[in-house]
Amino acid sequence: MNSSFTFFIPTRLIFGAGRLKELVRTQYLPGMKALVVIGANGAMHRYGYLDIVISHLEAKGVDSVVYDRIQPNPLSRHVDEGAKVARDNGCDFVLGLGGGSTIDSAKSIAVMATNSGQYWEYIVGGSGGKKIPLHRALPIVAIPTTAGTGTEVDPWTVITNSDSHEKIGWGRDDTYPVLAIVDPELMLSVPPKTTAYTGMDAFFHAVEAYLSKVNQPASDLLALEAINLISHYLPRAVEDSHDLEARTKLAWASTAAGFCESLSSCISQHSLEHAISAFYPEVPHGAGLTMLSLAYFSFLAGHSPERFPAMARAMGEDVENLNDYSKATLFINALERLIAKVGLDTEKMSDYGIVPEDFENLAHNAFDTMGGLFRVTPVKMSEDDVIRIFKAAYE
Ligand SMILES: [Zn+2]
Repeated sequence: MNSSFTFFIPTRLIFGAGRLKELVRTQYLPGMKALVVIGANGAMHRYGYLDIVISHLEAKGVDSVVYDRIQPNPLSRHVDEGAKVARDNGCDFVLGLGGGSTIDSAKSIAVMATNSGQYWEYIVGGSGGKKIPLHRALPIVAIPTTAGTGTEVDPWTVITNSDSHEKIGWGRDDTYPVLAIVDPELMLSVPPKTTAYTGMDAFFHAVEAYLSKVNQPASDLLALEAINLISHYLPRAVEDSHDLEARTKLAWASTAAGFCESLSSCISQHSLEHAISAFYPEVPHGAGLTMLSLAYFSFLAGHSPERFPAMARAMGEDVENLNDYSKATLFINALERLIAKVGLDTEKMSDYGIVPEDFENLAHNAFDTMGGLFRVTPVKMSEDDVIRIFKAAYE
């Protein structure tokens, strides 16, 4: 555990089943005209969530304009387009409603609504222009409908430039949402496969933040809590979508893992996954991570097993009377069983069209676009190591 750290999370969190309706009486809405950002797949219309949110805003005298073009791996051109809609309509805050892609887009749109030029000019990493925004982003409200990214309580927004095949995370203090409403009832409609993908994403945020070189006491506690809850409740929610107790535990686990991403950091498994989905955008983020995970964490456990036993214990494994390496192996075995229990053990890279000839390019892309996460990974990795991990994950 690191004994030198900074603690900063400025997001007001309203958590609990049925609490979306508190939008109607919260005094914490940051403006009078919202740009409401939703995904292009129509789910927010279908489940009625968009109507509920807009009617709650109207009841408070808040006008809204809807921007509905966001893709599952959200694109920088939609950030620029959404920001223009916000500016043209005089919106004074941005509300992201939906999965992580929607809330991430809301964050990036909030930045570009007050700053000039194109979004990619501000990105740090890859071909990004590294410009510093001159103006504060519009305030952001986040209402997640999946339990996965934890983006509602962290500053990170992950956007893809489809022209250059780069998927890069970026964030600042003003991209923390000012208000997050996490209502597990909104997650009852998530289909089993998406539940599994998003739940595994949250699991890996917790695992990576626990292993990261910049871990701290609070992120350690929350990471082990999230690892414990997800390994016990994700199989239940995949089995029965309407299990509200499981949905509630997972919603908290995902948000707790989001706090971990704020207090500690993801590590290079996310760099490897971003490279995959930058070239193969149809790979769900959680699927990409899951396909990499056994090879990736076996590599780390082989070189630096010290932090693995606590995670194995959080997953319910009995780690007493074993040496460190065996304890680390217990975690890998428990992870393998979890992946099978949530039905993702049949996912293969080849199903998505990925071929071994890609690996050199993917490894290079991972370092080029998301190199920062390698610096907080507990084991120093070369491009050759990453190619070996891709190969092991492929087999
Ligand atoms: Zn993630």
